[in-house]
Amino acid sequence: MKVYLETYGCQMNVADSELIRSILVEAGHELSPQVDDSDVVLVNGCAIRENAYRKTYGRLDLLRPLRLERQRESRPFVVGVLGCMAQNMKEALFRHPVVNLVAGPDSYRALPDLIAKAGRPKEGGHRSGRRPKIKKEIDADLSIVETYSGVEPLRFDGVNAWVVVMRGCDNFCTFCVVPYTRGRERSRPKDEVLEEVQGLAEEGFKQVTFLGQNVNSYRTEGASFADLLLGAAEVPGIERVRFTSPHPKDFPEPLLEAIAAHPKICSHIHLPLQAGSDRILDLMKRTYTRTEFLSLVDQIRATIPNVALTTDLIVGFPTETEADFQDTFDMVERVGFDSAYIFKYSERIGTIAARDFPDEVSPKVKTDRIVRLFDLQHRIALEKNRDKIGKTFEVLIEGEAEKRVGHQIGKTEGHMMVVFPSTGLPPGALVPVEIKEASPAALFGEALRLSVLNA
Ligand code: SF4
Repeated sequence: MKVYLETYGCQMNVADSELIRSILVEAGHELSPQVDDSDVVLVNGCAIRENAYRKTYGRLDLLRPLRLERQRESRPFVVGVLGCMAQNMKEALFRHPVVNLVAGPDSYRALPDLIAKAGRPKEGGHRSGRRPKIKKEIDADLSIVETYSGVEPLRFDGVNAWVVVMRGCDNFCTFCVVPYTRGRERSRPKDEVLEEVQGLAEEGFKQVTFLGQNVNSYRTEGASFADLLLGAAEVPGIERVRFTSPHPKDFPEPLLEAIAAHPKICSHIHLPLQAGSDRILDLMKRTYTRTEFLSLVDQIRATIPNVALTTDLIVGFPTETEADFQDTFDMVERVGFDSAYIFKYSERIGTIAARDFPDEVSPKVKTDRIVRLFDLQHRIALEKNRDKIGKTFEVLIEGEAEKRVGHQIGKTEGHMMVVFPSTGLPPGALVPVEIKEASPAALFGEALRLSVLNA
């Protein structure tokens, strides 16, 4: 069958889609770049981000005419929702008239079988000349062991490879649906991960980004997350090792020392703060106080020189007062993050917060707070980026700049986007770029004489 797959949400969903493609191709399906001529449309949806959630439903709505057309033609047509969204909503997704397959994040190995069953017309559907009835299939069982060992992701990007090293989360932050949609924490064996990294280097990938819902809680018998990072950094051909998304509670000294010690482990830590008020942090069940967070920041900066720190923030969590928000504002000023993803709180079905705390902060107040926080973060990022003018950074080229003809884009070790006139070098090359201008979200510069590269 021809399968069209669309992905919404975080990098974990992107990485899962690479696994899904691999499983489907292995089973003999053909990947299709367009919906119209496909027999199977799969939407790997997100239950965590409101925007991705709405987009997934919007996508399903757009498939209604095609579902009707295929029913008129009596041609098999499978529309499946996968991932966190499938796990979170389960059978409720069948209320949408186009959906006839639901598979959670631990059920991808069963997809070929589910597709085969869902693609068959329901028995008795042709009686009295009526349209065949749609068969519905679901597998949303969570596993405590599934890590997709032995499945080689089918990747398209040739510079960075997402490598899932652990799945699930045991933290149960009250606003978050992940522990319910992705199950308990489990890590892949270190040797298996490093073998994958070795293969990626041989394929020409220059960067690996280790992924996990709570990536730095990775542990296996005899190996820590620091061991894993150091092992990957030693693989010949790999120039950069990154990871996301960590939890502030899992940064032991040896991990920070490993990041500081190895030049190929990027000096960039995404450190999700979420809120700056101790009362809200406690309600969120984040397990740290603002003082503990600040001392971790001090420790990170003392151990890893020139580290870039980025974060996630939520405004308008239930009961958040102006004073609580000011605490967040204050923390952002104090830490001086290089960049931040800032979200308005939105209630997610099935979370502790949805059950126990009414979403009572008004939309107007949330908007006012997010705008103030954006303004602050923009000011901080602009100041930090302007400090980089005149300095030279090693940039990993990602490709052509979409918005500037004749320019390339790439990232610094600190994960800052850099735009520069084309060098003629291919994606994956490392090039020194002198920064000439800065905005809050990007740096603009010129590549130094290419001979410098080989100096
Ligand atoms: S650490 Fe908290 S926010 Fe992150 S995935 Fe786990 S429960 Fe969600």
